[in-house]
Parts: sequence; C-alpha cells; structure tokens
Amino acid sequence: MAKSTNPLQGYLRNPKLYILLPSGGKFSNIESISDISKELPIYPLTSMDETMLRNPDALLNGESMVKVISSCTGIKDVYELTSNDVDVILLAIRFATYGNELEISSSCPECNNTNDEVLDIETILETITVLNDHYSVTLESNLVCHLKPYTFKDAQQAALAAFRETSELNNLINEETDELTRLTSFNKSFLAMAELNINILSNAVIKVIIPATDEADEIIVKNKKHISEWVRGISKTEADKIINELNIINDLGIDRMAAITCSAEGCAHAYETKIEFNPSNFFDLSS
Ligand SMILES: [Zn+2]
Repeated sequence: MAKSTNPLQGYLRNPKLYILLPSGGKFSNIESISDISKELPIYPLTSMDETMLRNPDALLNGESMVKVISSCTGIKDVYELTSNDVDVILLAIRFATYGNELEISSSCPECNNTNDEVLDIETILETITVLNDHYSVTLESNLVCHLKPYTFKDAQQAALAAFRETSELNNLINEETDELTRLTSFNKSFLAMAELNINILSNAVIKVIIPATDEADEIIVKNKKHISEWVRGISKTEADKIINELNIINDLGIDRMAAITCSAEGCAHAYETKIEFNPSNFFDLSS
C-alpha cells in the first residue's frame, strides 16, 4: 500500500538560519557526523517544544532538551554532541524563535548596580569558531593527555549529579537521624559522585602519550579501560590540572563574554560579564 502524502507537508515551519557547529562533528560517532559537519538548519520552537521547556524537572534530566534540540535541528544523537555545540544550538534556537535580542542582567563589580543590557544574538553567533582536533595538557609525570570537550550526555549527568547531591544533602541535614546513619548516607552519596566524576573525566580523554625515553619508544594509550584505571589512580593535583583544562575547553567555540558599561550615575565602570547558556533563563518562558 502506498503511503499517503500529507498535503500540508509543505506548510510546516522553515529553518530560520543555518549555523556551523564549533565541533564540526569532530568528536562524534560516525552516524551523526554527516548531520553536524555541514551547515545545520535551525528551526524555531514549536508550541510543543515550548511546553517541554517549561517543565523544570524534564529540563533537569535533559530529556526535554534532547527532544527540543532534535525538533529544531533534526539531529538524532543529541546526547553525542559536544556541550559547546549544544550551547550554540540553544542560542540559535532562541534567535530563530524570539528574534535577535537577548537581555542579560549583571551586577557592577565597582558599585553593585544591576545593569540590564540587551545583546545582539546575531553578533554573538558570528563569533562561532571551530574547535581544534584535540587539546592537550602535559602532566608533571611528563605524560601528555589529549582531551576533547564533554559530550552533552556527560555535561547533563554532571549537572544532575550536582543537583541531586545538593538536595540529598539538604534532606539529610533536615532529617532526624542519628549521626552514624547520616554519616553513612553522606559517604555513600559522595562516593557515587566521585565515581561519576571519574567516568566523565575518562570519557574526555582521547589518549595518553607516554614520552619516549633512552630505553623505550613513545607509547600511545587509547584503550578506554586502561585510561579509566589510570584516571582512577592519578593524584588530585593531576586530576585538577586536567579538569581545569576541560573547563576552558568546554567554553570554547563561541564568545561568551559581554562588554558592559555601568549605567549608575557617576560610575560608568566598564567590565565584562559571562553569558550563561542556561535554558531555564534563556527562553521566554514566563509569558
Ligand atoms: Zn557601577
């Protein structure tokens, strides 16, 4: 039986703009590469998408974000995108749906005055830059660690874990339990958090290079299991060095700083503020 074609097909929404993603598909699995290595069409939110973004619980676990991004770009493997790509896509969706203006609020570091500024999203989108194939950090042990940005999945898991942690700890503090029960719960929850952090950190390591010595050639370790075991055993200083580098990497791909001049009388202090790519304050959900 032939599939009937919907005569309304040609009347669906059209893409409002096309963007190139910072990752250019570099860190993705093969299936999604063709989706994201060329110019990506960005469609405005449907009313269904908007409804999904209004649900704070669904936003938190990432599912509704995945559905919305999929609906507005056609990308199927949203969790596999880098978090840099997701930030850029969200800004572009905001542009496609509500237009060019982005209001941000910041407080002046000199006089604490709250400055509301309207930014031009098109100008911000023009700052999109392509990420390197990898980023590397050299540790004290001379190991060279090649890194890639977090996937959206890892970034979401980290955010969710941090949230759970906070609410769990709050519950524990308010609960009328004895000290020992409380301590055990604290430990359990910290362990789970530490375990997750190790996974996320390992996922961001592409490979580790053991430099050549007089006796031995250079060794390149790509084995996921070996990398994960290594991450588990490195010192806190080394882990912090990697995490610091990852925090920088995860912010690349678009200019996140906005120049503000304080509007308070007699101040006029010029400073920079960071644009937060947080969907809960990014989309016009109040109306
Ligand atoms: Zn000021």
